[in-house]
Amino acid sequence: MSRLVVVSNRVADPRKTAAGGLAVALAEVLNKSGGLWFGWSGKVIETAEGSAPGEGGLHRQQAGPVTLATVDLSREDHDAYYLGYSNGVLWPVFHYRLDLANFDAGHIAGYRRVNQLFARRLMPQLLPDDVIWIHDYHLIPLAAELRAMGCTNRIGFFLHIPLPPPLILAAIPAHDWLMRALFAYDLVGFQSEADLTHFTRYIQSEAHAEDLGQGRWRAFSRTLTAGAFPIGIDVEEFAGLTAAPEGRDMYQRMRDEYSRRKLLVGVDRLDYSKGLPQRLRAFRELLQRYPENNNSATLIQIASPSRETVHAYGDILRELESLCGSINGDFGELDWMPVRYMHRTVARKKLPGLYRAGRVALVTPLRDGMNLVAKEFLVAQDPADPGVLVLSRFAGAAEQLKEALLVNPYDTEATAHAIQLALQMPLEERRNRHQALMATIRRHDVHWWCSEFLDTLAETQARESGTPWLRL
Ligand code: UDP
Repeated sequence: MSRLVVVSNRVADPRKTAAGGLAVALAEVLNKSGGLWFGWSGKVIETAEGSAPGEGGLHRQQAGPVTLATVDLSREDHDAYYLGYSNGVLWPVFHYRLDLANFDAGHIAGYRRVNQLFARRLMPQLLPDDVIWIHDYHLIPLAAELRAMGCTNRIGFFLHIPLPPPLILAAIPAHDWLMRALFAYDLVGFQSEADLTHFTRYIQSEAHAEDLGQGRWRAFSRTLTAGAFPIGIDVEEFAGLTAAPEGRDMYQRMRDEYSRRKLLVGVDRLDYSKGLPQRLRAFRELLQRYPENNNSATLIQIASPSRETVHAYGDILRELESLCGSINGDFGELDWMPVRYMHRTVARKKLPGLYRAGRVALVTPLRDGMNLVAKEFLVAQDPADPGVLVLSRFAGAAEQLKEALLVNPYDTEATAHAIQLALQMPLEERRNRHQALMATIRRHDVHWWCSEFLDTLAETQARESGTPWLRL
């Protein structure tokens, strides 16, 4: 069996339970093959004025059979690669938010510099037979940089976030460079059929790629395979968390506190892609239109802090606080607060208890690669008396979770109506929907995702040798 080399922006120690489903799943494959996990250490080194950026050394650490290898980044590189380009350009544009992108020309050079640094540090670690799996938007050009150094290993790429339609992609000044770099991979995987379609439309119209059939495409003298591999969760692991003392304790406390109320839950990172203001406006509409929910329906909304240095996050934070304040002010009673909003991260092991106490989960992003919270909510339910998932049609998960109540989060009235349906749904319908959804979640869990991607990568055609790819 070939050794697996995983590369991602951040590296998680697979022995720590807080690492989450993806780390657990990757760790399983890495453990089997005695693999290597490579990425940024999370450390930023302040470089002296005038010294060259981009020369962080390699740290190696053994985590059981898995080697964790990381590099530090200089302040200048970090700011351009991570804050400037990854989170200031690729994140907003790939989530269809051109209005929030900052196309400052300097950032792309830093993005490329860090990908080159990764390639330089990774290359000496590689064995001829290694299979390399690169993750996410931070590292799109990494395979091209490796190929330029002579790497002929099999390399796959998985994009965890959405890919927008060609015309939105084309707004990125270096979009052709970025998309051409994808042809250095043998396999490129997306979360959904919609993302895959955007990719194939782009490469056909912008690169005149030739369709070779069975997901294979030829352009720039290279052939790649492209496919949709919707990521799942580790169902057993999450069911285990639900049954564990912390999960049960949280559930009991929620039940005690809200026994007379109908509890709705929302759990998100604070991000403009999550549609939080739209969700609160729909909840306000629910209270206004369906007064039987007054003194009863209570929304617990967790907004866990992320990337708060970015400007747009400050705006959304203020908007949320103001919406929550006005809903509570307009509808609240002495003994009832309609919205409980927390700008804090809740420990993963406590979440299943919160989910299970919820009659309805509101997962209403404006755009989302997949959305794992939707799947976790369903796994945490009591199958005999399950809660209902209200899910945005713009979440990647909507392609799979057809038995959820699918909504357009921009349509406040329709979303409020769907929430009302969810609150009133008879037991039998709730059970039937939950059963069908669970069958999908079990069939396409994170282990399926890992093996499906790696098996497809193993089947790709023999690699062509490197060409001088990248001219920015
Ligand atoms: N999560 C958490 N604590 C929180 C909020 C979220 O542990 O306070 C976890 C959640 O359980 C899920 C992940 O963070 O596993 C969020 O993944 P998702 O795909 O829903 O959204 P992303 O944050 O990746 O956009």
